[in-house]
Amino acid sequence: MKRETAVLQPAYGIDTQAYWMPFTHNRYFKKSPGSRTLVRAEGAYYTNADGKRLFDCLSGLWCSPLGHGHPRIAEAVARQVKELDYSPAFQMGHPKIFSLAGRIAALAGAGMSHVFFGNSGSEAVDTALKIAVAYHRVKGEASRTRLIGRERGYHGVGLGGISVGGIAPNRRMFSALMLPGVDHLPHTYNAAEMAFSRGQPKWGAHLADELERLVALHDASTIAAVIVEPMQGSGGVIVPPAGYLERLRAICDRHGILLIFDEVITGFGRLGEMFGAQRFGVAPDMICFAKIVTNGVIPMSGVIVKRAIHDAFMTGPDHAVELFHGYTYSGHPVAAAAAHATLDAFEEEKPLARARELEPALERAVHSLKGEPGVADIRNIGLAAAVELEPVPDKPGLRALKVFERGIEEGMLYRFTGDTIAMAPPFISSKNEIETMIERLREAIRSTR
Ligand code: PLP
Repeated sequence: MKRETAVLQPAYGIDTQAYWMPFTHNRYFKKSPGSRTLVRAEGAYYTNADGKRLFDCLSGLWCSPLGHGHPRIAEAVARQVKELDYSPAFQMGHPKIFSLAGRIAALAGAGMSHVFFGNSGSEAVDTALKIAVAYHRVKGEASRTRLIGRERGYHGVGLGGISVGGIAPNRRMFSALMLPGVDHLPHTYNAAEMAFSRGQPKWGAHLADELERLVALHDASTIAAVIVEPMQGSGGVIVPPAGYLERLRAICDRHGILLIFDEVITGFGRLGEMFGAQRFGVAPDMICFAKIVTNGVIPMSGVIVKRAIHDAFMTGPDHAVELFHGYTYSGHPVAAAAAHATLDAFEEEKPLARARELEPALERAVHSLKGEPGVADIRNIGLAAAVELEPVPDKPGLRALKVFERGIEEGMLYRFTGDTIAMAPPFISSKNEIETMIERLREAIRSTR
């Protein structure tokens, strides 16, 4: 009790110097870390070092929609640490990871049969890209090495992920390290055609035909895979135009190209179905997942593959390793326990139904910001939404930063990138909390004019 009171004092002293923070303006942050240092979390709320409660508008970083401190997950983790805290990932297994793989493959459906585990979304993406290239090779089509991503796509920060990714600042400093033989589809965002769309924009399915152009340019025999996020999350909640993903699927089928959905954000319910693939009715060949699989409690990621992909590797002598790839912590027992508990919660607490129920409330509330000064666009699907702000002239990003800071003062932890505010509230939110999140955002936006 004594310790808890101590950390909540506004004067809480924090030596921030040694920590080089990821994707953060380190020097700006360290001028006043108190309000942005989180010391506790419970349900849909964080508490910061100044003692203020903050509504968790992005479910952590899109990863904790069942709420923080979920008793079922906490207990499963505690039990697992005592029972089997680590098991070598190579040449050994443990019961929970076998059953988890089966459970996840079954949830993905559509011919998905096997799961390869990693620890982060970035690892899942690099794993999927490697499997794609290796798959064609074991099938006797070693010339299929080219990978195709999409502008504005985010696929983590591995060298594969930034190569297929399409966010310029994530790429430019590392241009010498980009994979050769990568191309990009155009992104699907067009303000003139789709600003303020609710759900899937009607315009833009034809942009998938750009894949035919790349096939004509490079020849299908050189292309291994296309990777896209069904909904671009980090790029600013860019929702696929109606018919677009279906068209990508058809073109991939026509040319023997694998289609990878990066569902690190959309996997496990963000769009109201277990996977974006199900929400959009398009079956990819591989799905990358991470984040919600453990409700963010323990790092875990993976790639779900179709049976034909897995089986293509199962040749040669059976005492030989089939795929020279894996991580020390692939299928970590504590992460597996957290994932099982998360999936149990999905079965018993019905958070998907809740997410579906909240979707119209979020849509209604967020689109009520149309017409506020400086609101350039609003996008939404599932329990995700973005509000794009007009930048301050010559100071891109400053407006959203001010909104974010005002949000903290008002008890809201928004997520900002560039001049976009993204929201993906916990599935356990109430309608009232969602409406309050948007009303506070309205006030914060007004305060920046
Ligand atoms: N892929 C997508 C679609 C993501 O949104 C993210 C992270 O937000 C990643 C990959 C990378 O995940 P991680 O940060 O766990 O490496």
